[in-house]
Amino acid sequence: MRIKTALVLVVTLTLAACGGGKQKGVVKFKGSTPNTSLAVKRDNRAVSSHCPKCDDPLKIDEVRCPKVKTCGAKVEWDSTYTCGPCGGSGVCQACVWMENQKGQCYACRGEGFIAYQGKTPDCKNCSGKKVCPICAGTQKCDYCKGRKMFDKAEVMALVEKSNPPDGAADPAAKPEADTKKAEPKKEEPKKEEGKAPEEPKKEEAPKKE
Ligand SMILES: [Zn+2]
Ligand SMILES: [Zn+2]
Ligand SMILES: [Zn+2]
Ligand SMILES: [Zn+2]
Repeated sequence: MRIKTALVLVVTLTLAACGGGKQKGVVKFKGSTPNTSLAVKRDNRAVSSHCPKCDDPLKIDEVRCPKVKTCGAKVEWDSTYTCGPCGGSGVCQACVWMENQKGQCYACRGEGFIAYQGKTPDCKNCSGKKVCPICAGTQKCDYCKGRKMFDKAEVMALVEKSNPPDGAADPAAKPEADTKKAEPKKEEPKKEEGKAPEEPKKEEAPKKE
C-alpha cells in the first residue's frame, strides 16, 4: 500500500512540475542485485542523477541545469529516493529470484554442503554458511539494507561511488577487467617439484663431549 501511494505521489508531482517552475531532479538506479556469490564480483549496480528536462547528468542539489541556452531547467531534489534494486520492497532480490526459502542458500538448500560422489564439500555459493550470500539470510535488500529507500545524502554518496573521479571505470565497457581482479591468488602449483629447496640444517644438534 505504501509503495503504491509513493508511486502515485511521484507521478502527481511530475505532472505538477510540468506546469512550470521547478522540476524534480531524476535519480536513476542501474543494474540489478546479484543472485549468487559469483555474481557479486560482477555487481554492476550504479546510481546516477540527471536533469529532468534534458536528461544530462546533473549533480544532486544543483538547482539549475548548467546548459542554460538549450535547457536551463530549474531543478529541485527530493529528500528521499526509492531503492532501485528492490523496487522499494526492501526484500532481497536474490532470495526472490532464486526462490530461496527463508533466506537459505539456493544451491545447497540450507545444508551448507553439496553431497557429491560420497564427499560433502562446502557449498561454493554460501561457503558453507547455509544462507543466501547476498543478504546473509536476513532476506533484506542488501542495497538499502531493507530500508526501502535512501535519503538524499546517501544517494549522493552512491552517485559518487558510481562515478570514480578518474572516469576510467565504466562497468559496461570492460566487464573482463573485474573478472581478472577476482582471480584467486591461492593457487601455487609450482611447489610440487623441487620440494626441498631448503634442507633443514642441523646446526643445533647437541655436541657430546
Ligand atoms: Zn537540462
Ligand atoms: Zn537473500
Ligand atoms: Zn549453499
Ligand atoms: Zn533495496
